[in-house]
Amino acid sequence: MRQQAWHVLPWLDVAKALDVHPAKGLNLKEVRRRLQEVGKNVLAVKKGTHPVFLFLGQFKDFMVLVLLAATVVSGLLGEIADAITILAILIINAILGFVQEFRAERSMESLRSLTAPEARVLREGMEQRIPATDVVPGDIVLVDTGDRIPADVRWIQAVNMQVEESALTGESHPVTKSISPLHDEFTPMADRQNMGYMGTALVNGRGAGVVVATGMDTEMGVIAGMIQSVEDEETPLQKRLAELGKWLVLISFLVCVAVVVTGILRGEDFYKMFFTGVSLAVAAIPEGLPAIVTVALAVGVQRMVKRQAIIRKLPAVETLGCATVICSDKTGTLTQNEMTVRQIYSDGRRISVSGEGYDPKGEFQGADPEKERDPLNSALKIAALCNNATLTKKGVQVAGLFRSKGKDAPWGIEGDPTEGAILVAAAKAGIWREVLERKQKRIGELPFDSDRKRMSVVYETKQGRKAYVKGAPDMVLRLCQQELTRQGVVELSNERKRSIMRANDEMARHALRVLAVAEKPLADAEPLDEGVEQGLTFVGLLGMIDPPRASAVKAIRVCRQAGIKPVMITGDHRLTAEAVAHELGILRGENGGVVSGTELERTSDQELSERIMDISVFARVTPKDKLRIVRAYKKRGQVVAMTGDGVNDAPAVKEADIGVAMGKTGTDVTKEASSMVLGDDNFATIVAAVEEGRGIYDNIRKFIRYLLSCNLGEVLTMFLATLVGLPLPLLPIQILWVNLVTDGLPAMALGVDGSEPGIMNRPPRKPGESIFARGLASKIAVRGTFIGLGTLLVFVVALFMGVNMLGARTMAFTTLVFSQLFHVFDCRSEERGIFEVGIFTNLYLVGAVCISTIMQLSVIYVAPLQVIFKTTPLVSWQWILILCVAGGPSVLIGLARLLKNSWQGKTVIAKG
Ligand code: ATP
Repeated sequence: MRQQAWHVLPWLDVAKALDVHPAKGLNLKEVRRRLQEVGKNVLAVKKGTHPVFLFLGQFKDFMVLVLLAATVVSGLLGEIADAITILAILIINAILGFVQEFRAERSMESLRSLTAPEARVLREGMEQRIPATDVVPGDIVLVDTGDRIPADVRWIQAVNMQVEESALTGESHPVTKSISPLHDEFTPMADRQNMGYMGTALVNGRGAGVVVATGMDTEMGVIAGMIQSVEDEETPLQKRLAELGKWLVLISFLVCVAVVVTGILRGEDFYKMFFTGVSLAVAAIPEGLPAIVTVALAVGVQRMVKRQAIIRKLPAVETLGCATVICSDKTGTLTQNEMTVRQIYSDGRRISVSGEGYDPKGEFQGADPEKERDPLNSALKIAALCNNATLTKKGVQVAGLFRSKGKDAPWGIEGDPTEGAILVAAAKAGIWREVLERKQKRIGELPFDSDRKRMSVVYETKQGRKAYVKGAPDMVLRLCQQELTRQGVVELSNERKRSIMRANDEMARHALRVLAVAEKPLADAEPLDEGVEQGLTFVGLLGMIDPPRASAVKAIRVCRQAGIKPVMITGDHRLTAEAVAHELGILRGENGGVVSGTELERTSDQELSERIMDISVFARVTPKDKLRIVRAYKKRGQVVAMTGDGVNDAPAVKEADIGVAMGKTGTDVTKEASSMVLGDDNFATIVAAVEEGRGIYDNIRKFIRYLLSCNLGEVLTMFLATLVGLPLPLLPIQILWVNLVTDGLPAMALGVDGSEPGIMNRPPRKPGESIFARGLASKIAVRGTFIGLGTLLVFVVALFMGVNMLGARTMAFTTLVFSQLFHVFDCRSEERGIFEVGIFTNLYLVGAVCISTIMQLSVIYVAPLQVIFKTTPLVSWQWILILCVAGGPSVLIGLARLLKNSWQGKTVIAKG
């Protein structure tokens, strides 16, 4: 279909050629047929690693390869049972690694589908939201500012439409679009003003287009590969761990060489020592670390999805744990975005409006809004006409006279909640846009944008053209020269302007969001640009409430405990912002902490960064101010999360350490710039994500602590034994077994451990902090030494008590395994001992430890395994000794912590 020169055809002909009704769209049967015929609207994407390669990849580790080679050699030399067991252990290890990596990949894939773009289309006469992949040729797609165009389209409606096409044409300036046909069939793509291309973004206006090509047939398909998706970037921690891994390999290698050399010098058999050395190296190198980190990150990301936080860039998971400032929009994020007009100011009167929710039933106290000559009536009419929202009942659009449909169905709104609230208020007075539009027709629109803070429309009425304007009172009043009163239009004096602004302030102080409405008759020849907004007649103010979200109030409290500064950034009036911030708990105490856009303009970047830690509310700011705010916080060394929805927010969202986009109201452009998307647009979700981020980092520390202290224990056991001239306490196959039993399941279970209760009561982590900071390194060193010395102690005592070598090794072997299985419970918390954390609070871990215990018992008590692993059954005194040495430290530390913490708790209570 690409070959067609759609741009030279009138749009109606294009719709005809594609067999679609432009006002109704396709029917679903036809959509299915076309989807089958042309396939999904996707560009060919790179496939993930095939599971077979993923599995084989587990054997690429150098030490594993050496061990494999050694095993083959030992097999050839007749040690068949040994060779088979080692192979089996290596394969089980590889399966574990494979499962971890496979899970990690799968989670990343499902993540990708979560952030998949959507499209708005007209089908069977109804507007629908569908995955962009389901768009077919002939679909009528609807686009708004900030949307990405889902396929190649021929525009059939374009309202002030500007599209950024640099990805396709290299042209960095937005291109203005129209619907008229072009004459030249060979017009270059960049100049085809009536066409829209897949992947380009609307930066202004809105419109509709009929899809002419999808998937690989689009112009973007030709340059395939430019697809935007979740980036599988490595996180800084993963990079640092990779670095650490290299060091660990080197150190382990050197220690193993030392063990081998010392052994040989002491007269041990070369072959035996070589095997021991390689096995020790395989056990000591925490090769599972990167995979467990990925799983911990991926599992955390899935947990965040359940809490409505969708991560787009993996590094954000870590950064979340370091967040010190969360800058949030007000409307919809901190507030419910369910607005209700409560007060109207017109002709000097303040009129209260009653009624709840979106039900268009309510009274206007002190005025009759149905009186045509009353300016209140005009204010509501202007507000209803300068409006793109719709009132719905059970999802069906409702217009005035048809409102009896679905009697008990709840009322709702579609579109901008501010505009929806206005429609409800107008409907309470019996004013419906659809009814008004029978006598007048909209011929132009200057859409609302957060910079202009107003919106205007031009209607063709029987009395000639009229401009209707609504917007922020300070912006609109500036453009007014007259006022509509019950006596007619009068001159608007400065005194009168001031008193209107006082009325505005009074409303704002009561946390009302206020909009002014104004109008102006136009001459027929007047161009439809910002000129229509000059010399307006002021008609009234509409004040609406937008209650704070209860969950946001709670989340702000949590932020404070967690050492995070919550900041509100809003386009709303300073007094409204201040009142809402007080209700939310963002502003405490009296004045201060609030800065308005105008003040911000007068403040230099330097001054701003000096003052910024004292500011909690930015009011009447524009999206470009957000960028300055992010930079100022960053300059002060803060780690900033910043929310955004509109296209103009994208630069600030990108600049922030954690860019947060709104899932429901956010534009595609902002979502793509973000590292996290909020499924429910709720501030509390950001805080929940921070909590998860901290939890994930804690979990990574938990299993690093576990893996490294265990590995250190294993290496020390062997190293010290050779150093002091003891016989080898463990055989190669036993070393490999210890590694399998302890490093596999228990470590994985630690990776999915729950968060500690006080996780949001401590300050944020410093961004550059080493993974071993806050005493982790010493914990690892001390416990590793304990494990090593304990194992050796049991070995020596056994020999001293006359136990034979077989028994002594079995005892050392079992001590090493159980020391680790006890220690894994200690690793669940850095402050609390096992008794406070509770054994059964992570059932995965309990299950993993049970499985490992059964595995170890079978090696000791199942006869054929005894032969392979060179073990012998143990008697009770041996078990008592083993369990005391292995479990002693955990129990003693647990008790000490219990006493210390309960004593500290008591002193805190006593002090309090
Ligand atoms: P936040 O950034 O917290 O979402 P906000 O939603 O209040 O704040 P904007 O949407 O930029 O910020 O609105 C700024 C001002 O523009 C509002 O205070 C209001 O006076 C005016 N305004 C908002 N929506 C409209 C609209 N649809 N038409 C006309 N004016 C509007």
